[in-house]
Amino acid sequence: VHRTKVRIVEDALDANNTIARANREDFDRHGVAVVNLMSAPGAGKTTLLERALAQPLAGVRAGVLEGDVQGSFDADRLAALHVPVTQLNTDPGFGGECHLDANMVRSAMPAVPLSEIDLLVIENVGNLVCPAEFRVGEDARAMVCSVTEGEDKPLKYPLMFRTCELVVINKIDLLPHLEFDLDLFLYHLDQVNTGVARMLVSARTGEGVERWRDWLVSVTQRAAATVA
Ligand code: MG
Ligand code: ZN
Repeated sequence: VHRTKVRIVEDALDANNTIARANREDFDRHGVAVVNLMSAPGAGKTTLLERALAQPLAGVRAGVLEGDVQGSFDADRLAALHVPVTQLNTDPGFGGECHLDANMVRSAMPAVPLSEIDLLVIENVGNLVCPAEFRVGEDARAMVCSVTEGEDKPLKYPLMFRTCELVVINKIDLLPHLEFDLDLFLYHLDQVNTGVARMLVSARTGEGVERWRDWLVSVTQRAAATVA
């Protein structure tokens, strides 16, 4: 019985990967680099994007695909920045899933102005578990972890921390007010993903956000070089 269950999960992930490849081909055809941005709820993904996209990125036209179970609070915030924002809710049609998968992203693609952007940031549903299991056709995966979440997060959610090539450590302006042991957090991070790129930022004050903007530009350039 256990083997059968495992088999079904594998088939579902195979099907997801097939759709993710189709997404990837469509993104490539339009020359669009894609970042899958993940985090726990409230880590600051939207605020970080607000900060990063308040000014145009150097030579990169960005767009956002905003994943939420329901509502458009985050998309409305980002729409004020004059970047194209597409809302993808998992509630109607996808059973209120707590993650985005390749099929959901595919369903939203007709609404994304792919020919007008060079970079699509997909803000995944806030969740540290299943988003890590589903490829959506991205070039890069990044996650945001805030210093309010505790030093043990990498050990509790190793797949998420292992699957990302960048860990953005947010809300560092709060460090003086917290018991958070940054060195211990980084030690745990290296235990699950040795040497993974990390940056310390405060989306609230703007500290470190320039490096996050630079990273978004570099991922776009890297993707363009890979396709060409
Ligand atoms: Mg958000
Ligand atoms: Zn989920």
